[in-house]
Amino acid sequence: MSIPGISEAIIRHNSNASSYSRGEEYYRKGAIADLKKRGNLIQAEVEGGEITPYQVSICFDAGGITSACCTCPYDYDGWCKHIVATLLSCSRQSEIIEERPTLEQLLNRLDLLQTQRLLQELVENRPEIIDDIDEFVSLIDLPKPKTKQPSTRQSKIDISPFRSHVKRILRDGLKELEYASELVHRVMNAAVFHRPDWVIDNARRRAEPIMEQGKADRYDAAVNWLKKAKAAYLQLGKKAEWSAYRSQLEAAHGRKRKLMELFKELNK
Ligand SMILES: [Zn+2]
Repeated sequence: MSIPGISEAIIRHNSNASSYSRGEEYYRKGAIADLKKRGNLIQAEVEGGEITPYQVSICFDAGGITSACCTCPYDYDGWCKHIVATLLSCSRQSEIIEERPTLEQLLNRLDLLQTQRLLQELVENRPEIIDDIDEFVSLIDLPKPKTKQPSTRQSKIDISPFRSHVKRILRDGLKELEYASELVHRVMNAAVFHRPDWVIDNARRRAEPIMEQGKADRYDAAVNWLKKAKAAYLQLGKKAEWSAYRSQLEAAHGRKRKLMELFKELNK
């Protein structure tokens, strides 16, 4: 079995009747190309009437599917027809899935120079990813606080060990990519106490364009930034400001179903 627990009932449950039947049509027409499995990630290209095929990514764990995204603009009622078509292939024709190494396994084969070369080539071919690299590196290069801020906490978190740790990991050629991103989150969380204003500013500046441009495949990143902003607002005792900001976002983006679903995480 390609994905634990995958069944047609689950696919139907997560899509509406029209997406399901159109997805099934796509599956029958053989519109799914390049179906690959890398660890706990399934990826496929689905050809529709468009010039460029849509990219579907499905993550799962032992309990089943944890997320399903597609690059198409559909954001209405459950999974789109491309996700349905991909999952039908996984469930009915798992033998066509090609097993490939995970990102971590691939990166482990590269030394530092090769990793740099890879990143340079990626940016040459896809200039837009320089923004992601910029975002990653600027998090590591967190500015130091200019003045000591009064804090109600008894002990302050010193972020400098994280900074040097993250830099060392980068020098090692991104071999511990997943661990590094965990550390970036810890750095940001520490900054919530040191420089909450800076966190609010930065987190909003990163989250807002993703939501405004309707980049559904990056909504989870936007919501993660908003979680940092919320923590920083609360740290400053500005709960009302946070609620107002959140309501403003809900008013502006209330029709983006995928986004509003993820917004529920902000209640935690
Ligand atoms: Zn789609």
